Amino acid sequence: MRDEEGRLKPVVLISSDGGPDENPRYPKVISHAIHNFVKHDLDAIFIFTNAPGRSAFNRVERRMAPLSRELSGLILPHDSYGTHLDEQGRTKDHDLEKKNFQKAGEVLAEVWSNMVIDGHGVVAEYVEPDDSAESFIPDLPSQQWYSEHVRESQYLLQVVKCDDRACCGHMRSSIRSILSERFLIPPYPILQSSRGLYIPKPQEHDGKTFAPFLLRRSLEITPTYEGFGKLIYDLYCPSLQKDRQILLERTCQRCALYFCTKKKAKEHVNFCHKQYNTPEMHSVRPSRILTRRSNGRSREILCVVRENDDAEWLDETDVDLQLQLDETDVDLQDAYPVIGVEESLANPWSENIVH
Ligand SMILES: [Zn+2]
Ligand SMILES: [Zn+2]
Repeated sequence: MRDEEGRLKPVVLISSDGGPDENPRYPKVISHAIHNFVKHDLDAIFIFTNAPGRSAFNRVERRMAPLSRELSGLILPHDSYGTHLDEQGRTKDHDLEKKNFQKAGEVLAEVWSNMVIDGHGVVAEYVEPDDSAESFIPDLPSQQWYSEHVRESQYLLQVVKCDDRACCGHMRSSIRSILSERFLIPPYPILQSSRGLYIPKPQEHDGKTFAPFLLRRSLEITPTYEGFGKLIYDLYCPSLQKDRQILLERTCQRCALYFCTKKKAKEHVNFCHKQYNTPEMHSVRPSRILTRRSNGRSREILCVVRENDDAEWLDETDVDLQLQLDETDVDLQDAYPVIGVEESLANPWSENIVH
């Protein structure tokens, strides 16, 4: 990941899973991405995730399958240094629990370190938790800086150097030769018809096929984008097609910047276009609430905002709880399934049988 001088290479791409703690919409992920962008003098950082139901295409997840397989049948001792639990199975000695946890982690690292995957030895190591690192959340830069350097969308976060050398310094890579608009151009389909190549409207799109990046980049046709000031990144995002109002509410009506939440769009309008009246802020009304946690100063709620989409952590103050059923009424279907190793390792691919 480093160049000859030992610096982090100038363009960083991070593929994460869509989990609520990692996805590119989570405010702490955004804060840390910007922090690393500045700290390491990056030309660009991209953090992306697979759309729901597409995690079978996540390379990291597939890479990890052999590691999970190694764990089937393995029992890690929980009481290497004596039990930390009382008769009811509750923790009575937290320090001992940490020591036992560490021992289990070390055993796990040893098991994995003996593995060879595709000819490459696995190096696994137990890392002591660092509580101070855990709670460190870098402050966000100004809204003006944010609008200039950051592009949010449902499954992709982009932070890219601007053209002002006094602001961002020199480019270290040739990324601008590929991304002449600085940011990745949005995905959209291109169809071949008797009239020639054309781009269907989002409502006419099957939601599955998208033209490859280089083709979109080289063909001189772009979609129309009625109602939006410019082509917003998620215009063709299948999971956002059902409620196009969301896309409008996430878009700044003044400068057409698109954000991954209504809240962010509102904050942007408030700070960058103060002279205009800002639309009233409505809090998010989730379709389901899964769990809560308190995280340092704030309290967060894990919600499903739209059915069939990944759950996300939202700040408690942003969630409208009025219409929510009593959480204890949530029936069992609302719980995350705990599934067996076999099920989680099931091959997502089907055989292509040629007759
Ligand atoms: Zn800059
Ligand atoms: Zn704006």
